Amino acid sequence: MSSATERVLIVGAGQAGGRAAEALRAAGFAGEVVLIGEERHEPYERPRLSKSVLLSEEPAAAAIIHPRDWYAAHGVALRTRTRVEAIAPGRQTVITADGQRLEYDKLLLCTGSRVRPLTGAPDGLQGVHYLRTIEDSERLAAELLPGRRMVVIGGGFIGMEVASSALKRGLAVTVVERQGALLDRVLPPAIAAQVAALHTAHGVALRLGVPVARIHGNGAVKCVELADGAELPADVVAIGVGIIPNTELAETAGAASSDGLVVDEYCRTSLANVYAAGDVTNHYNPILDRRVRLESWQNAQNQAIVAARNIAGTAQPYAEVPWFWSDQLGTNIQMVGVAEPQMDIVWRGSRIAFGLVQGRLRLAVAFNAGGEIRFARRLIESRALLSKDRLADAAIKLKDLLSEATCSASTP
Ligand SMILES: Cc1cc2nc3c(=O)[nH]c(=O)nc-3n(C[C@H](O)[C@H](O)[C@H](O)COP(=O)(O)OP(=O)(O)OC[C@H]3O[C@@H](n4cnc5c(N)ncnc54)[C@H](O)[C@@H]3O)c2cc1C
Repeated sequence: MSSATERVLIVGAGQAGGRAAEALRAAGFAGEVVLIGEERHEPYERPRLSKSVLLSEEPAAAAIIHPRDWYAAHGVALRTRTRVEAIAPGRQTVITADGQRLEYDKLLLCTGSRVRPLTGAPDGLQGVHYLRTIEDSERLAAELLPGRRMVVIGGGFIGMEVASSALKRGLAVTVVERQGALLDRVLPPAIAAQVAALHTAHGVALRLGVPVARIHGNGAVKCVELADGAELPADVVAIGVGIIPNTELAETAGAASSDGLVVDEYCRTSLANVYAAGDVTNHYNPILDRRVRLESWQNAQNQAIVAARNIAGTAQPYAEVPWFWSDQLGTNIQMVGVAEPQMDIVWRGSRIAFGLVQGRLRLAVAFNAGGEIRFARRLIESRALLSKDRLADAAIKLKDLLSEATCSASTP
């Protein structure tokens, strides 16, 4: 168990950092907790920023996890607007941008990720937006005026949520995706096609398989030129072409990094007494038996909690089937597991799709059928060999398939 004289420094006051501070106290950690973040806000959750905030249904402040006085009341020294510039692991010290040196007994890195810039996109052109922070969301929301033309560059989850919100606010929306399918990194094309069909049915124009050549404008954006020569007039452009994990701080200090900061199941980096959690990590998932880098609410929340418990002295591995949700055009999409390059896709009606590898479930995606997701998650955990026909048969409850799978696994 950790001692009351220890100091835990958390760098990055986003969702993971905030939840870790909370979890340290919940785990009984009695030492000093310092939470340092570059943004001016208290820790907040980002999912609303592409949904209710863009729809102007609620203010961005609704995303804030706890008000500022919560931190003082729980003995967490929250320092916002403070960037950590360097780590001196030998001295167990971090150095802030304003030159302060802060020692730590344990350091938890929750530095998250930043938007990936679109190559060649001009700087400072009015009407061109990225979406990561509260400020980004407020700026974009202010531009979503009925009748305007919007081009969304990037058909990932964020891009498709922005498209959905903009359409609902009365804009004419075109999504441009250079891959031949939407959601190329996270879903097999056969499942992503259902998301494409949803958007097309609501009137979103999709331009798949063609990259953007250039964004034109003079002070303000005018149009987006595609590599095939097409010009899409635009009053607003939203770019969502992925994120980059903020690994540099730890890499410079010598931490192992490979598509994210490498951590083990206990959230330990390769540096002594340095842990990491959230978007910035690349971790080994024992259920999937592979390494993953996740960009999700669940991972920011639960990996941070596990990291905090380990720091507080309770050895606990982080082992969860990845879960993600997205809300688009009135459809709640939930997925558990991960997409693999070669998957057999099985549909159960039109609302649930499964991805199997060698007969074992690795991915399930539910469209307005989130209630089934918990059974799918447990089917993934069971690693049972499953019959495609029975998975496809909506007359057989997933719950019953799960009972069969767990019974046969426990039968000697
Ligand atoms: C618009 C949007 C919508 C989303 N919707 C969903 C959704 O529907 N479902 C879902 O599962 N996930 C969603 N996500 C993903 C989810 O929000 C992220 O995975 C989550 O925010 C990651 O949390 P984090 O704390 O690891 O990182 P971040 O949220 O990136 O926080 C990291 C913080 O660290 C700070 N920082 C970085 N470096 C330093 C430094 N050197 N010094 C000090 N501070 C530093 C950053 O400024 C930032 O505040 C969405 C994300 C976005 C942007």
